[in-house]
Amino acid sequence: MDLNTLYRTVIMDNYKNPKNKGLTKSDEFHFVHLNNPSCGDDMNVELKIKDGKIADIHQDGHGCSISMSSASVMTEVLIGHTVEEAKALINDFYEMVKGNDDIDEEGLGEAIAYMGVRSFPARIKCATLAWKAIEKAIDEVEANVK
Ligand code: ZN
Repeated sequence: MDLNTLYRTVIMDNYKNPKNKGLTKSDEFHFVHLNNPSCGDDMNVELKIKDGKIADIHQDGHGCSISMSSASVMTEVLIGHTVEEAKALINDFYEMVKGNDDIDEEGLGEAIAYMGVRSFPARIKCATLAWKAIEKAIDEVEANVK
């Protein structure tokens, strides 16, 4: 299996069987909604931070296979990390889709499947939508805590 086939498989698996999908609507979570008008993607995320760690994330929305699968992968990559580690991984994801190879590939795990979008600038907003949403959620939680 070549790398492009592997990447496509990760994206389709996460599109068909999304992880952590469905909102809890619980007060324990911080909710953020973002959309990507250029593709019509619509994204909701819920974030729970506990003891400085990403304790849980839920995601739900509708849109293209890139945006929806990326939300699934994002939850799997970030849950369990400290907030600081999560911020670094989110930044590495942005750098990767822009074409920078100086990134934490091991930390990004299945998210490296989105490396291919660097060749399709119109899809970068699809791939990063869920990551932008969770970044906003982290910023808002931190702003309220401090
Ligand atoms: Zn899209």
